[in-house]
Amino acid sequence: SKWVYSFGDGKAEGRAEMKNLLGGKGANLAEMSNLGLPVPPGFTITTEVCTWFYDNGRQYPAELKDQVAAGLTAVEGIIGATFGDADNPLLVSVRSGARASMPGMMDTVLNLGLNDITVRGLAKRSGDERFAYDSYRRFIQMYGNVVLDVDHHHFEEILDSHKRDRGLSYDTDLEASDWQAVIEGYKDVVQEALGRPFPQDVQEQLWGAIGAVFGSWMNQRAITYRKLHEIPASWGTAVNVQAMVFGNMGNDCATGVAFTRNPSTGENAFYGEYLINAQGEDVVAGIRTPQHLTIAGRQANGSDLPAMEESMPEVFQQLDAVRLKLERHYRDMQDIEFTVQQKKLYMLQTRNGKRTTAAALKIAVDMAQEGLIDEAEAVRRIEPKSLDQLLHPTLDPKAERKIIAKGLPASPGAACGKVVFSADEAERLSQMGDAVILCRVETSPEDIHGMHAAAGILTTRGGMTSHAAVVARGMGRSCVSGAGELRIDYKTGVMTVRGEKIAAGDIITIDGSTGEVMLGHVPTIQPELSGDFATLMGWADRFRRMKVRTNAETPLDARTAVKFGAEGIGLCRTEHMFFDTERIIAVREMIVAETEAGRRAALAKIAPMQRQDFVELFRIMAGLPVTIRLLDPPLHEFLPNSEEEMDEVAKAAGTDIQRVRHRALQLHEANPMLGHRGCRLGISYPEIYEMQARAIFEAAVEVGKAGQTVIPEIMIPLVGTKKELDILKAVIDRVAGEVKQSSGVQIDYLVGTMIELPRAALRAAEIAQSAEFFSFGTNDLTQTTFGISRDDAASFLPDYQRAGIFEHDPFVTLDTEGVGELVSIAAERGRKTRPDIKLGICGEHGGDPASVYFCEKVGLSYVSCSPYRVPIARLAAAQAAL
Ligand code: PEP
Ligand code: MG
Repeated sequence: SKWVYSFGDGKAEGRAEMKNLLGGKGANLAEMSNLGLPVPPGFTITTEVCTWFYDNGRQYPAELKDQVAAGLTAVEGIIGATFGDADNPLLVSVRSGARASMPGMMDTVLNLGLNDITVRGLAKRSGDERFAYDSYRRFIQMYGNVVLDVDHHHFEEILDSHKRDRGLSYDTDLEASDWQAVIEGYKDVVQEALGRPFPQDVQEQLWGAIGAVFGSWMNQRAITYRKLHEIPASWGTAVNVQAMVFGNMGNDCATGVAFTRNPSTGENAFYGEYLINAQGEDVVAGIRTPQHLTIAGRQANGSDLPAMEESMPEVFQQLDAVRLKLERHYRDMQDIEFTVQQKKLYMLQTRNGKRTTAAALKIAVDMAQEGLIDEAEAVRRIEPKSLDQLLHPTLDPKAERKIIAKGLPASPGAACGKVVFSADEAERLSQMGDAVILCRVETSPEDIHGMHAAAGILTTRGGMTSHAAVVARGMGRSCVSGAGELRIDYKTGVMTVRGEKIAAGDIITIDGSTGEVMLGHVPTIQPELSGDFATLMGWADRFRRMKVRTNAETPLDARTAVKFGAEGIGLCRTEHMFFDTERIIAVREMIVAETEAGRRAALAKIAPMQRQDFVELFRIMAGLPVTIRLLDPPLHEFLPNSEEEMDEVAKAAGTDIQRVRHRALQLHEANPMLGHRGCRLGISYPEIYEMQARAIFEAAVEVGKAGQTVIPEIMIPLVGTKKELDILKAVIDRVAGEVKQSSGVQIDYLVGTMIELPRAALRAAEIAQSAEFFSFGTNDLTQTTFGISRDDAASFLPDYQRAGIFEHDPFVTLDTEGVGELVSIAAERGRKTRPDIKLGICGEHGGDPASVYFCEKVGLSYVSCSPYRVPIARLAAAQAAL
């Protein structure tokens, strides 16, 4: 079989569509070659080799050796140089390339093919001894570090001590003879660390690097990253071997990275950075401050270093043409890497660029308006979950700010928290509930867990394309990078700027949209949801079939949800209306009451508040449907626990604490989630539902008098049988009649049920004879289908996910196979009885995109989710319908 795919010289064996086989980088290198762009020739070893490697005890398929040799020969032919040749050596880079770009793996080895002999050939050919030895020492350092696993600092110590001895400050001060001395030091370091010399055999070098790429697929960082991003281990990585081009051969050479549009704002302007006389890793490492590509970019950032547009105008024009060609071809914003070798441009990579959500929206809307894509495609392009980023607060412009430093606006949004200096500390404090700002000189893949845990990230070194900036944008964390005035001292745990000392634990605020770093807590405001967001959501609304409602019971939540586009309330949990300190006493009093009279006395206190709650909710929802669920209190959440609580309840009920304690003990349940809750409470104590129904109808009448029609949807929880529903429906109908009688107003309403028990799903046909709507309570339905307690799952679910039993937490993403089958069955049987039955979902899954797709497939009428997830559900519903 074929394990190796060649590219170069205006053609390639691969294509962009072959990402699964060639990885993202390899597929796009092939595509760029086919487009006739200047790509250094090379070949890609497929992801299937990676899979084979791990399936066969880390061996390679037998044919691989010959195919790699043939690939190399083809490159030698195009370049006119020979791998390992003393006079005219071919040098190559070796890079990993998974389907999705994946930090955490071995990334790159450059200048491979150099040894004590070939370095002389390179020196002679290039006419630049210094360049040749600098390249060789870079190679030993990189290969030593990533392939041979010799720690960085050993090499840095050698270099530093050489500089010290010779009185030199900058790498650029070192001459060829200096590098030769450093190289000897480096080789000693390797010999000492490994007990064998640095490999001089170029074939050994090549296979070492290939092995290191495949090996890194299973290192801890890569595994963590895959878990975080739900990338299966079975995908494997490809390896790209490519002829070297040099951006560090003199001042007519450069290397850079760019985005075809601004990745922060989405603005349609070329955006990137370059370094003259440098090699690729210099840009990302943040050792030198990169220069801007365009004059506009330079001016916007107040830099006086010349832009590439000024320093290399011809190459810049060529690059700008490549930019347009790539965008027209890929119809998406591209993230590119390039090198200029003696004024000649080479493309090293292109891929769809990572971007902030704000940029993603602008780019999708702009491209649709430019005619590059259609509106449906624009809607498909936005990851629904990413909208969350936009819904985050920004700094209140009126708030006072004590700005202590300014860096680059690397990832937008404001964040405030305690200063921490290590990823582990960030993780530790955030697990304790603290918001933290992770402050680092620069970040590396080892810091990912801390970046994830942090509210924001601040670095003192590195550009817009530094590790911190790219990763933070991907995660939606706000980030300020390259705030160079700040000095971080990890040892003392102090950050200083102009005499100001900021210690670990101090509060700072960062604004990732402006790059500002501020002392203390700066107040924030909610985002404006207009512009591109509104445009795209408008398109999404046109494509979607399902309605989106919200789970809300407080006026604040209801208003927020309406602002986010909710088309009604799908679940008002009435027990949540009584969590505040005043009201909870009355609810507790009602629950611990020993007699109906006692309960009615407590209910009488609750009734007027409840009526007022509904009046307010109906007004806010202004004619939109409102589903009110009658009381469903798992008793353990409502029984008084402490002496103080019991005392309060005793006082309110006019009884003594002894009796309350006794009653609480009596009501205590071993399995509250399967206990006396939901409609079971209503069956035992119908006066509770009676009070609630009355409050609903009276509120409807009151709001109706002001000219607003309200058709309340009254929902009975935890029904397992038609009988339960019938008994409680009779109570509701009776109260409706009474309120109609006393008010003289006709009242329209619906009575429906939650489907949250397997029995209810199975008996849906007969339940639908009484229920006018179903709402799937998939929280309880998941709990009861799996027999996994919602409250106790956290202790063992991680084991289940690690063991691969659950791919996702079933309380987050609907288990479409099991729980989903019950939903399908209930929907089908319910419809058979009542063809126009309204079907919705109000479990947490209603705001989870994957679950929303499932709801579309089953044909539900609406999904209902928490207010902040309403936009996510709107977009997911649109994508599901497309
Ligand atoms: C459910 O069970 O899915 C539901 C929405 O109800 P609750 O979460 O209040 O039990
Ligand atoms: Mg429930």
